[in-house]
Amino acid sequence: MKVLKFGGSSVANSIGLSNVISIIKKNKDHNILVVVSALGGITDILSKMLSKAINRDNTYKELFSVIEERHLEPIKKFIPLEKQNEVISFLKSKINEIGDLLVAVSMINEDTKGVQAKILSYGELLSSEIIYRILLKSTIKVNLLDAKSIIKTKFINNKDIVDFEASSINTLKQISNKSNYVNLIAGFIASNEDNQIRTLGRGGSDYSASLLASFLNADILEIWTDVSGMYTANPSIVSQAKPIPKLSYHEAMELSHFGAKVLYPPTIQPLIEKQIPVIIKNTFDYKAKGTLISTNSNKKDKNVVRGISHIKNVSLINLEGTGMIGIPGFSQRLFHSLSSNNINIIMITQASSEHSICIGLTKTDAKKAKKIIYNEFALEISLKKLNPVIVEKNMVNIAVVGDKMKEHQGISGKLFSSLGANNINIRAIAQGASERNISIIIDKKNIKKALNTIHERFFEEQIIELNLFITGVGNVGSKLLEQIQLQKKFLIENLKFKIRVIAISNSKKMLFDNNSLKLENWKKNLINSPLNANRKIFFDYIKSLNYRNSIFVDNTADKEIASEYCKYLENNIGVVTCNKIACADKLSNYIKLKTISRKYGAPFLFETIVGAGLPVINTLNNLIASGDSIMKIQAILSGSLNYIFNNFKEGDNFHDIVMKAEKEGYTEPDPKIDLSGIDVARKILILARESGYNFELESIKNKSFLPSDCINAKTKNDLYNSIKKNKNHFNKLLKNAKKENARLKYIAQLENGKASVGLQIIKPDHHFYDLEGSDNIILFYTNRYNKQPLIVKGAGAGAEVTAGGIFGDIIRIGKR
Ligand code: ADP
Ligand code: ASP
Ligand code: MG
Repeated sequence: MKVLKFGGSSVANSIGLSNVISIIKKNKDHNILVVVSALGGITDILSKMLSKAINRDNTYKELFSVIEERHLEPIKKFIPLEKQNEVISFLKSKINEIGDLLVAVSMINEDTKGVQAKILSYGELLSSEIIYRILLKSTIKVNLLDAKSIIKTKFINNKDIVDFEASSINTLKQISNKSNYVNLIAGFIASNEDNQIRTLGRGGSDYSASLLASFLNADILEIWTDVSGMYTANPSIVSQAKPIPKLSYHEAMELSHFGAKVLYPPTIQPLIEKQIPVIIKNTFDYKAKGTLISTNSNKKDKNVVRGISHIKNVSLINLEGTGMIGIPGFSQRLFHSLSSNNINIIMITQASSEHSICIGLTKTDAKKAKKIIYNEFALEISLKKLNPVIVEKNMVNIAVVGDKMKEHQGISGKLFSSLGANNINIRAIAQGASERNISIIIDKKNIKKALNTIHERFFEEQIIELNLFITGVGNVGSKLLEQIQLQKKFLIENLKFKIRVIAISNSKKMLFDNNSLKLENWKKNLINSPLNANRKIFFDYIKSLNYRNSIFVDNTADKEIASEYCKYLENNIGVVTCNKIACADKLSNYIKLKTISRKYGAPFLFETIVGAGLPVINTLNNLIASGDSIMKIQAILSGSLNYIFNNFKEGDNFHDIVMKAEKEGYTEPDPKIDLSGIDVARKILILARESGYNFELESIKNKSFLPSDCINAKTKNDLYNSIKKNKNHFNKLLKNAKKENARLKYIAQLENGKASVGLQIIKPDHHFYDLEGSDNIILFYTNRYNKQPLIVKGAGAGAEVTAGGIFGDIIRIGKR
């Protein structure tokens, strides 16, 4: 015999019901018992009406029409017109009964367990009757049973619990194990010794079905729902979650107890003794294999962790006090007082010092628990042996479950380190002695991030998601987007990185997509975006998504944007930038950024601010990290100045060369930034800081090659005029170099704790002599590279290489 249970999600409307009918038809030659829930959402509506009525809020009446319409929909779809009246009048009579009950509730202004059960039971009462009539019309031989005369409860220790003996006798009496028709029964409904209606708790139809399967010694219990089995995590929060093919009873029980709603927690227990297997199947995808729950979990499954579940709205109660050690039977009194008041404890942690104990409970239980604890320990609290009870709200419990976890080391290590790397703080930890479950409590705001991080760690180890939020999509930014698009496939296949561009922005517009923007048409979409650029909204958006591996990419040279890096890092959002301003600003700001980056585990990378895509900063960091020490750095760091002096020949007018450089895009929009040496000074400042020197910009000696009126020029025009006027000055510089058969090069240097920038005469035997075009070169003289320097050389400017350098930083974050 088979027991088939169809949940509210399966019978919610005529679409689901037509699947239900065909599943029943496929099974009708077997001996089957069908258990049905209320139409999805109806129990919620009834519960809402009840609480409104208790509070004398008459708007509950508006919901009658919803109940009526929801039930009329399948009636009209499946029952022939001439037979509809009979069912509709049944529906209306039940709705009237609910109305009468709610009027009474509202008058007495009080809720009782009996009234609550009676009202909530109407959901299953209606669904079972309507489905019965629909099945009759579909030529299925069907027999409708009365749930309340079969499942019985008894009142023990202040609780209604199922009376297994009475229920089993009723079942065997009323349900034949060999009938040739379909038996149909409402789930959720039971009655007590006085035949008053009771329910089995929210989600309890699963339990009705498992009890009946157990009493009837069924071959299998099939739970038909709206997902293809028990998933590795709640699929509505973790999009990568997958159905688990097989689970042991204990694993399934643990996962459901800790929040996997697809199975009502008490469901498994009655099946264990008789070893009745359960299969969770999808009403909307008949062919999907589903999850088989039985004695043997899948031995071949390589995953030690089988699933992750979570409970929302948890509160933590913390009891502390130096006098706790001296209070006799403290724990026993605490747990006894809570359990005798039906308070369900989700997790307990106790420090071995016994000075504190921490328990996790649902929000509603925590409220009650606080009062109970105050009453129980009133004396100790007044004597200050115990501190006042602290309740922390808005927490979530996450459980990582697997039978085989106890045989494997390092599971908790993996769990904690992955959360730590994403800056998710763990408030409490518990691991049962069975080691089938490790539970943690975290802040509710991190739930999505935490579940996805843990899931990634245990189930999708191979794919790492990197979520980018890019500001600045001009030359460099658009090249970066182009490179990302071209490399996407390679990165997934070779490095197992999934790069998602979630948001882009320029100075005018912003474009967002929580699931990743389509990069094919980003330019057009950005122009047409209804969102005007707004830095605050951009930041708030990233923060609210709270994705793991979030990276803010700054491709601008904007001072305001650079001033916001701290804010990003403090929120565990990595920063990758080609904007020098933040690193070359005041020393205190640079130190602050570095410290915050470390503190919040948020990477701050800026390889491209010196030498564009050349591996300068990374090389320097690696040298230092591996124990080498820097003796001297000598470098040409300005592509613009290198270009200008490489093109400046005898007889030329320096003015024309600078103008040409500007026109061809080799200089900053204001060429004075290059000519004054300030840009190079900032770069050597950053290299000095990365080498461990606490320098300010003023510490960099800058002996300018410009005559004083060029230095004092207020506008670009003034600058060009004074360059023209000082033609001879520049020619003389060149002539002096030629005299020594040398070339002019603008050089940055760090040696003996001193840094300088300036124009130098470079002879043919020097590494710099032949440096072409706008290239950069950096010589690192170190303890290890003391005779011949380590040389980094190549194009030091250009959108393509800069974008490549930024991309490199992004990939470095993925490899962390
Ligand atoms: P029914 O109406 O069939 O009883 P439920 O709504 O009670 O269905 O349970 C199914 C829902 O449980 C799914 O739609 C899903 O949102 C939720 N759920 C939570 N955790 C899990 C999980 N680990 N695997 C599958 N579903 C889960
Ligand atoms: N209808 C009840 C509820 O929504 C029982 C169930 O669906 O399992 O809680
Ligand atoms: Mg359910």
